[in-house]
Amino acid sequence: MNRQVMCRLTGERREWYSALGTPGHWGSEMERESVVQDELMRWFEREGMLRYRIESDETGEVVEEIRAPMIALGPHDEDWVRPSNPDCLHYPWKHLEDMTLDDFNDYIYRWFEEAVGHGVIRCAHCGRLLVDGDDLPDADTWDALLLDKELVGWLAVHFDCKKQLPKKLKGLHAFELEPHSPPFFDLAHVPMPNRPSDSSPTTSTERT
Ligand SMILES: [Zn+2]
Repeated sequence: MNRQVMCRLTGERREWYSALGTPGHWGSEMERESVVQDELMRWFEREGMLRYRIESDETGEVVEEIRAPMIALGPHDEDWVRPSNPDCLHYPWKHLEDMTLDDFNDYIYRWFEEAVGHGVIRCAHCGRLLVDGDDLPDADTWDALLLDKELVGWLAVHFDCKKQLPKKLKGLHAFELEPHSPPFFDLAHVPMPNRPSDSSPTTSTERT
């Protein structure tokens, strides 16, 4: 199967939270699309980033729900989107299958920079539009953070807004959110990540 062909089919509406264990048939576009999403889901599973909820319905049947990590484009519940498979965005520095969590954080940071450049990211706390640039005034500087609790995901926030963020996020659970398809950005041109070699994989993607 040609990776390019598969990737062009992604980003459309498939309920990929239930995609784990999808049989490996390649008969339809829908199924090919699911293969790309499954790769990402397996990677999240390997990294322990999926969240599970087991419920039983009125008939007593047990249903397991799975939530993958998400990305916030802004401060509201409806601002969350699904992350894209980096291979599909032509991210040049590593393929998904070779990525550590640090590598994935680097990729997400580059994605945020691109998205901020396109004017689609608002601060996850105050909702002001984030701007990019080398010499931003202090009030406009921002950082991308990884959340790794009941909700696994990434968001971008002003440095000044970081302190109030835990209060805002308290009680926010992955199963209350219905993330949308992400906007598409081609990342083929993004600069190589330069992070300190001792950065911890579970804290945040510090801006360098
Ligand atoms: Zn803010």
